[in-house]
Amino acid sequence: MRTIAATEIVKAVRDMCIHANHFQPADVRKCIKDGEAKEDSPTAKEVFRQLAENIDLAEKTALPLCQDTGLAVLFVSVGQDVHIDGNLTEAINEGVRKGYGEGFLRKSACHPFTRKNTGDNTPAVIHYDIVPGDKVRISLMAKGGGAENMSRVMMLAPAAGWEGVKEFVLKRVAESRSNPCPPILIGIGIGGTFEHSAKLAKLALMRKVDDVNPDPDLAAKETELLGLVNKLGIGPMGLGGKQTALSLKIEMTPCHIASLPLAVNIQCHSSRHEEVEL
Ligand code: SF4
Repeated sequence: MRTIAATEIVKAVRDMCIHANHFQPADVRKCIKDGEAKEDSPTAKEVFRQLAENIDLAEKTALPLCQDTGLAVLFVSVGQDVHIDGNLTEAINEGVRKGYGEGFLRKSACHPFTRKNTGDNTPAVIHYDIVPGDKVRISLMAKGGGAENMSRVMMLAPAAGWEGVKEFVLKRVAESRSNPCPPILIGIGIGGTFEHSAKLAKLALMRKVDDVNPDPDLAAKETELLGLVNKLGIGPMGLGGKQTALSLKIEMTPCHIASLPLAVNIQCHSSRHEEVEL
């Protein structure tokens, strides 16, 4: 049994909160940097130029990529041969508290009705998984409100099939227009139950842009649907263009014979996530 001190978890989460809000993952960074050359319209080109400039500024200054520094969402895989010397959930929340405090990042967590801010961006949204081994893997996403608000879960009729999934996703993106700050990244969860499909959709957003689905059928479906989304012409910041979405990833699992759960989780161009293994 390996022991990991809770203070190590606190430090890792703190550092990820600060780093993720200033440095975009290399894959998304490349898409934004390459975006200008792929557009025809001067407006779309200019939006990509400004987004690329914003990335450079965030890297060089103490300013975050966006004023909305997000709610902290974490996927934590805990090896069954690991003992945490302390309370893991408290350590993660302390890391978020320190990261958002010491990093001067906006605190966005509030009471749903009174709207009173919790003051330190906690509690974080934490999903745990127990896995073999003696390591702890922590993935953190700083999830902005604008894109999250455009996300949906839909319990489709089983007969809706792939055509029903495509129709729902295209309608969702079309209705979202500029609200999720495109170019967006789309995570799709299919199957499981109501809540499990939503978790799968969020997990899909953790995948890299150039990651190819190991299931050839799902890989083809991802390519097909991304192409259809980009034919909508919404473009960067909703001002028209070829690139409405930079990626579309599907995670799928079996479901009840009477159901076809579908979740669409939308991420904005300011896609901020990090991963660490302890
Ligand atoms: S949706 Fe993303 S880019 Fe838009 S304001 Fe929120 S965090 Fe910022």
